[in-house]
Amino acid sequence: MAKIIYGLLLCLGLWLAGADGSTAEAAQFETQWRYYELTQPLPAGQSVPEFVRQHVSDWPIWDKEKRPVFSPGIERLLLAVPVQDLDPQKRVLLFMTAKQAVRMWLGEEFFFAKGNFQPHRFDDGSQPYMLSLPEFSGEQLLVMELYANSPRDLGWFSMFSVDTEQAQMAQLFFSDVPLVLAFPVAVAIIFIMFLYYYFNHPGWKRLYGYIILFMVIFAFWIVCASNVKSLFWDWPVFWWYGLSVLAYLLPIAANLILASLLEDKPYARMNYVLAANIGLFVLAMSGELIGLHTMNGLMGVFYILLPVCEGWAMFWCIKAARQGDVLCRTVLLPTAVFTLLGVFDGMGGRYHLLPWHVYLTPLGVYAFLYFVIIILREQVRHEKNLLRRTVGLEKEVAAVQRKSETDALTGCWNRNKLKELLATAVAVARKTGKPFGLLMMDIDFFKKINDSYGHDTGDAVLRSFATVVRQLLDNESDCIRWGGEEFLVLTNIQTLPELQALAEKIRLQVEQKPMAGHKITCSLGLTLWQTDSDTTAELFKRVDEALYQAKKSGRNKVVVGE
Ligand code: GH3
Ligand code: MG
Ligand code: MG
Repeated sequence: MAKIIYGLLLCLGLWLAGADGSTAEAAQFETQWRYYELTQPLPAGQSVPEFVRQHVSDWPIWDKEKRPVFSPGIERLLLAVPVQDLDPQKRVLLFMTAKQAVRMWLGEEFFFAKGNFQPHRFDDGSQPYMLSLPEFSGEQLLVMELYANSPRDLGWFSMFSVDTEQAQMAQLFFSDVPLVLAFPVAVAIIFIMFLYYYFNHPGWKRLYGYIILFMVIFAFWIVCASNVKSLFWDWPVFWWYGLSVLAYLLPIAANLILASLLEDKPYARMNYVLAANIGLFVLAMSGELIGLHTMNGLMGVFYILLPVCEGWAMFWCIKAARQGDVLCRTVLLPTAVFTLLGVFDGMGGRYHLLPWHVYLTPLGVYAFLYFVIIILREQVRHEKNLLRRTVGLEKEVAAVQRKSETDALTGCWNRNKLKELLATAVAVARKTGKPFGLLMMDIDFFKKINDSYGHDTGDAVLRSFATVVRQLLDNESDCIRWGGEEFLVLTNIQTLPELQALAEKIRLQVEQKPMAGHKITCSLGLTLWQTDSDTTAELFKRVDEALYQAKKSGRNKVVVGE
């Protein structure tokens, strides 16, 4: 950990100071490299350093800028460079190879070996190595033997320098800067997307799933691409294959995201794009497995396919964006940035355009972060709309329900509601053991009003009657239009005298107050819920009978049901 922090600080310092990290010691490796294509075994009994010392002056100069093209069958290379007395503090060698086995000698001393010097199915990987040179004095030859499965891979090495451990660490960290900047962002996106994936409604889940997939592959790719991880886990083959496999998977995962965004666009043929990506991946992997080294061999195709496929996808995204699709518009930026940086890194890596292994692709994650933020904004908007619509719908439903339970003429409850009111009253009575009261009212000689003054006047009288009755009721009591000019009052009054008093009050008010300019009277029957054994049928029978008695005994009366 301390190593990492130290390296980061140093690297930041170097960056700020604008230093390029090269030193006098590094400079001495810039000249006088000589090379020899080893086609036969060395003469018996002769060691590599001996052989080199005898012949090195006849070897051609190795031009690092223009690596020679080796003819087929050449698999081994000897390289030699003289090294002067070194400051004991500055004896840490840093270099990077790709797909080659390496052996090294300083003077007579053999000091480093990595990889397999026989033909083998899987390539030796690629990673930076940092090691201390053995002690020596005067001028010595540093000899490096390289072996590659294919002459195409032979002779590639970079970052070759000696310096202090701190300076070498800084060099390593320096090329990791874009990766270090990108990694936490990728992890944060994975975390946020995971939360949204887990806690949100299913509509967006697939998109979130693909984003998580893409970012997980991306994060692992970053680890494989970094230099620093090699200091902790010295597994060059694993990192090299990880880097290549994940590089093939990245566009597949990215195109799954695009496919889910373009899902409902008939003109977008993302399945072709995905088929091309997946086909290449399968081809590369199966070729690699049978020893054809296609994983790297097909990288050339990969870097042609990448801009072509993403170009098509972006064309469809632009079309969708023109039609107002916000996400398709937003995804254009990360797609373009990732594609450009990917191609740039690919060309840089393949044709060794850059002095160090610096990957710029990771910085594309910031464009991707912008896309993720817009997705979250759209999701919040979408939810707000949904909520607004739900609330509106709920209000509408409530209004419709109320309408279906209310009598249009008088505003009293109608029979639909009576069922519910009665059921509640009975349930409460059964639970608490307390009775409730029921009044049944009928306007006297109402037909005459209709007959004498017309139906409209009759309606007006009904309305006034209902208003008068309701004004006399408390909030706990309900007035229901039972039918025609008959009304019910359901009340939580629990004693007969109180119920009688209410009925009497209604009768008196109706009698005294002219309704729509006409004097009317009404008859009332009443009864209480008999808690233990009562039924609603009995209740209605009693109240109906009471009303009948009220009519029979001369109208404008209150009668208690027996
Ligand atoms: P009683 O004292 O015996 O109750 O006499 P009544 O005339 O009120 O008797 P009845 O129940 O036979 O008559 C009720 C009338 O109420 C019959 C019907 O035409 C009238 N009616 C029922 N519904 C409405 C309505 O919504 N509006 C109007 N204007 N009249 C209605
Ligand atoms: Mg009637
Ligand atoms: Mg009547």
